[in-house]
Amino acid sequence: MNFKYYMPTKVFAGFECIKNNGEIVKTLGNKAMLVTGANSAKANGSEKDVTDLLEKLGIDYLIFDKVMSNPTIECAYEGAEVAKKNGVDFIIAIGGGSPMDAGKAIALLAAQDIDESKLFSGSYENKVLPMVFIPTTAGTGSEVTQYSILTNDKAQTKTSIASDLIFPEIAFLDAKYTEKLSLKTTINTMVDALSHAVEGMLSARASVVSNALAIQSINLIMDCASMIKALKAADKKFVEDFEIREKLLNASFMAGMVIAQTGTTAVHAMGYSLTYFKDIDHGRANGLLLAEYLKLVEKQNVNLALSVLAALGLKSTEKFNEFLDSLLGDKESINLEEIEKYSGLAMATKNIANSAVKPTQDDLKLIYKASLNI
Ligand code: NAP
Ligand code: ZN
Repeated sequence: MNFKYYMPTKVFAGFECIKNNGEIVKTLGNKAMLVTGANSAKANGSEKDVTDLLEKLGIDYLIFDKVMSNPTIECAYEGAEVAKKNGVDFIIAIGGGSPMDAGKAIALLAAQDIDESKLFSGSYENKVLPMVFIPTTAGTGSEVTQYSILTNDKAQTKTSIASDLIFPEIAFLDAKYTEKLSLKTTINTMVDALSHAVEGMLSARASVVSNALAIQSINLIMDCASMIKALKAADKKFVEDFEIREKLLNASFMAGMVIAQTGTTAVHAMGYSLTYFKDIDHGRANGLLLAEYLKLVEKQNVNLALSVLAALGLKSTEKFNEFLDSLLGDKESINLEEIEKYSGLAMATKNIANSAVKPTQDDLKLIYKASLNI
């Protein structure tokens, strides 16, 4: 088996890991730009822990808190302009996948001029601002991937910058920041991490190392899932259990390491249209499609599907469908015109060739039909 393994991010995990290990950021420069969403970094204490650290270390900083969910190309260029104007040495991204992905594009665009037409080319000069990442959702694993996924209105989808240059230098994983994440976002992001781990196993680039990480990530998620399902059934709004929060954050981190090696598959490619056109959260979009894609895999490579079911501890793809349904609840609708368009867009992505079982456009149409209400 030929494979490459590369993951250069230094990761510090655990309660108060910023306080305990934060001095390391001193090596990155004298001026930082914090990249965040509008509210959550202020509300969950992560921004304050970072600004306290920077003040203690005598590092100057400014805050760019304009990152929206599913960040746009324009947001990345705007953030990079602010960084350039202010002579920023390094980026500290705090938040879910959106501020982290925006942070990567900002770090790249602040260090070199890249025309928008070349932004997704993958060919850049060897220059980027160093990055420190603090995930506050447990889903994307962006803190350990080389991808920055931006909303691309010209292509009417989400497009990735993929380059080893944009791996963050340092990541701090403290589950205390995720404690007030709503149950809904907790489920959507958990399902994103599950999707990364499962798709990693279903990737044409899966290896013995990525599978080991994927299986452990799936184990951690399945350990937490029954409690999360019970909280959902009881209509609770939060998961107030640090141990569960920590397991989910570690699962997300490991699933990030998986996709850094394997990429994602047809599921993510199909999910992007559900997010772009129907505003369905990223993780939920993948979760809606995942079981039906596994059914297709089962038809063409039964042993591969069985290895995923074994990791999930489930007896059949139908049981996986039921499991995801119980987490995701009522499904959105889709019509035939949308299915035609979204399946065409998904077929044009690299994810199709990256899938161990390569679907046809007709397969994708059937998956959309079976996954949503028609
Ligand atoms: P998100 O868009 O970053 O955040 C979703 C919502 O959760 C926002 O309203 C945010 O508020 C809030 N939030 C974040 N942390 C919180 C906390 N601790 N407590 C309460 N609320 C909190 O969602 P996400 O699912 O983490 O990221 C999705 C993005 O990541 C998508 O653009 C997706 O394409 C990308 N992604 C990237 C990779 C990769 O490898 N790079 C992998 C998968 C997905 P604020 O806006 O106020 O912060
Ligand atoms: Zn994802």
